Amino acid sequence: MSNIVEYNEQKASVNAYPERIVSPPHPGECCLSGMEQVGAVQEDGNWLFVYKRCRTCGYTVRHFLMMSPKALRTMREDILRSMN
Ligand SMILES: [Zn+2]
Repeated sequence: MSNIVEYNEQKASVNAYPERIVSPPHPGECCLSGMEQVGAVQEDGNWLFVYKRCRTCGYTVRHFLMMSPKALRTMREDILRSMN
């Protein structure tokens, strides 16, 4: 899963999720209260995340939620194996 967010201060912000999102490189005051989830929960390696985008300026981040069920299962199996 590649990162679809492009940080660019020359371009206007674009929300073309799930193909791409163009975001300003830095958050502003507006981002403190204006972030909203874009699209569904995604998986990247061992982690689940959502894209969060500011309604006002378009600043976008990947917001990590928790380890994926698969990663947790693998971790549990490793722990059990190490106890045997
Ligand atoms: Zn903002």
